[in-house]
Amino acid sequence: MKTFIIGNWKCNPTTQAQAEQLFDTVEKGIKRIKSASWRNKNIEVVICPPFVWLPLISASVCAKGFGGLVFGSQDCFWEQSGTYTGEISPTMLKNLGCSYVIIGHSERRKYFNETNETVNKKLLSAFKVRLKPIFCVGEQEGEEMSLVVKNQLIEGLSGIKRTQMRNLIIAYEPVWAIGTENPCQPNEAMKAILFIKKTLSELYNRELAEEIPILYGGSLNSKNAKDYIKEAKMNGLLVGGTSLDGGEFIKIIKSV
Ligand code: PEP
Repeated sequence: MKTFIIGNWKCNPTTQAQAEQLFDTVEKGIKRIKSASWRNKNIEVVICPPFVWLPLISASVCAKGFGGLVFGSQDCFWEQSGTYTGEISPTMLKNLGCSYVIIGHSERRKYFNETNETVNKKLLSAFKVRLKPIFCVGEQEGEEMSLVVKNQLIEGLSGIKRTQMRNLIIAYEPVWAIGTENPCQPNEAMKAILFIKKTLSELYNRELAEEIPILYGGSLNSKNAKDYIKEAKMNGLLVGGTSLDGGEFIKIIKSV
């Protein structure tokens, strides 16, 4: 299975020049570390900028593109087009060259009233145009992980077929660990990941559950990243704040 390193730029940077510079640092960094063994290591780096910077990244990746670096968006709407002022559809993202879309990020649940029901509609809609969703789940401080995550999985994945599941990535992101410099320790995160696998086995089957990459996200940096991949053997990382520092993001990729 591939190892995924995903950078979520959130609502940053605020100018095109800064976005270009950040992407340039990441692209050059990857080219430098990209050796004959890169392919064998099977690492996929995914950059998820705000919608407005997607065209410039798309142009760069399509013009100079090389294996192992692709891009995605941080959200999408559930309809493909129509009278929905302000929305961005999965079809638009697909036509721009996006491969992935983050769906159900806790910041969208918190600030934009995203529910398991809207997350489910967005997942179904992304699958329709073959965008690969990065489906975020995780409990808030004081909540029981198993109760919250099980419900997010059952309701979020309602109606999603086995064949579609093969294009899904799940990111376990405990809300209390996001942007707090208080990461969930690898052994604890691994317990949540095993719980997610168990739930997927119950909802689908064991073979399928084993095929779905499950990543960790929350206060990752260039020092702690390797513990999740090399020791806890996770399938990848969703990196927020640290992905805004191109040098640090490259160090994370190097470390794993
Ligand atoms: C995120 O936004 O998905 C995230 C994990 O953020 P941070 O790395 O800043 O905790």
